[in-house]
Amino acid sequence: MVNLLTFDIEEWYHANYDDIDPAAYRGKGSRFVRQMEALLQLCNDNHCRATFFVLGCIGEDYPDVVKKIVAAGHDVASHGYGHQLAYRQTREEFKADVRRSIDILEQVAGQRVLGYRAPSWSIIERNFHYLEALEELGLQYDASVFPVKTFLYGIPDAPTVIHRPTVNGRQLSLYEVPMSVTSLLGRNMGYSGGFYFRFFPAWLIRRAIRQANAAGKPAIVYLHPRELDPEEQRLSLPCKEAFIHYYHVAGNKEKLASLLRAFPFTSIAEHLKSLS
Ligand SMILES: [Zn+2]
Repeated sequence: MVNLLTFDIEEWYHANYDDIDPAAYRGKGSRFVRQMEALLQLCNDNHCRATFFVLGCIGEDYPDVVKKIVAAGHDVASHGYGHQLAYRQTREEFKADVRRSIDILEQVAGQRVLGYRAPSWSIIERNFHYLEALEELGLQYDASVFPVKTFLYGIPDAPTVIHRPTVNGRQLSLYEVPMSVTSLLGRNMGYSGGFYFRFFPAWLIRRAIRQANAAGKPAIVYLHPRELDPEEQRLSLPCKEAFIHYYHVAGNKEKLASLLRAFPFTSIAEHLKSLS
């Protein structure tokens, strides 16, 4: 069983908190380019293909980085234009935002964008029908649903396998690729990305991946460039948010490297080819 490696490609200041305005930090410095070089090197060293969900504004600011992702054989997918929460947009705003990002990324990458992941997992129950808009845009898959319940996001009873979802009584042609969860104390819990990846010990993550694989499911890893770079600038956040955002960033790159050595990984588009 080959697992799926994904990255959400954004700057250190792309976060969805009411008093943080990402536009205010744009163009004012970051370690993004060196983070991306390190990330691509890591994939190359471990012979892993990955899916990079890139913001449209990153495609504008760093076209050379997007070109390098493609040249290294990875998939470029969309993470929306400017990291807006999908559930705070109308369906029309959402569709226009995703379309704008696809246009930018396809222009820069010179390849078709096949997938989308919403900022902060912001496809939830009440805007689940937005998946239909992604189908209208010609996308092949969505990877925005996290089958957990948190204060910020999640559809706790969503299917945990790759499937074609039903919206308004009709089965869509696009695939939903839900984030991996494991069962902990009777509840679904993330383990293989972001805060969960930094929080849980490596042995627990490896065990959960082996369990997923034994059940016939690829595990999906997701991380952000800033999560692999302890020297990046940090947002000033309240305690809880700062803990979630920055816990154990130091050592995280080596943790990922050891996982890439332990399991085979590929991109979502590559995996979906094996399903059809
Ligand atoms: Zn994001």
